[in-house]
Formats: sequence, structure tokens, C-alpha cells
Amino acid sequence: DLPKLTPADPAAKALAYAEDAATVKHPAFKPGSHCANCNFFKGAAGAAYGPCQLFPKNSVAAKGWCSAWAKKA
Ligand code: SF4
Repeated sequence: DLPKLTPADPAAKALAYAEDAATVKHPAFKPGSHCANCNFFKGAAGAAYGPCQLFPKNSVAAKGWCSAWAKKA
């Protein structure tokens, strides 16, 4: 498995990544959005962590969020 992305990672910081979307207070945050329903999330359904196309060296939390969130197509 890929190492978990940490919010302290410079690339994560640049996109305001958080491990829990419930804690996010970002102006771009849309209620209900989180990694599991993001178009860039490639994790298995129900998995707590999974790959994200924007962070190829890491896994991200299914409950996480970042400012690049885009609705799953
Ligand atoms: Fe999560 Fe999507 Fe941001 Fe990747 S691009 S960290 S899946 S919100």
C-alpha cells in the first residue's frame, strides 16, 4: 500500500488536504464532498484509504478532502 498522505506534506498543504472532511473550513468546500466521492479517488468502495490521482505517491483518506475535489463522474 502507498504511505498515507499527511496534511503536513507540502503538496497536501498546497491543496489544503485534511484527513476528515468534517473538520474542513475552506471556502471551496462543498457540504457532502469527500475523497470517496471525488473523481480523482481510485480506492476500492468501502476502503478507508485509497489512491488519489493527484497524490500518486500516497494514499488518501476516504473521509478526507482537498481543494481539488471534483464530483465523481
Ligand atoms: Fe481527495 Fe479528491 Fe483531493 Fe484526491 S483530489 S485528495 S481524492 S478530494
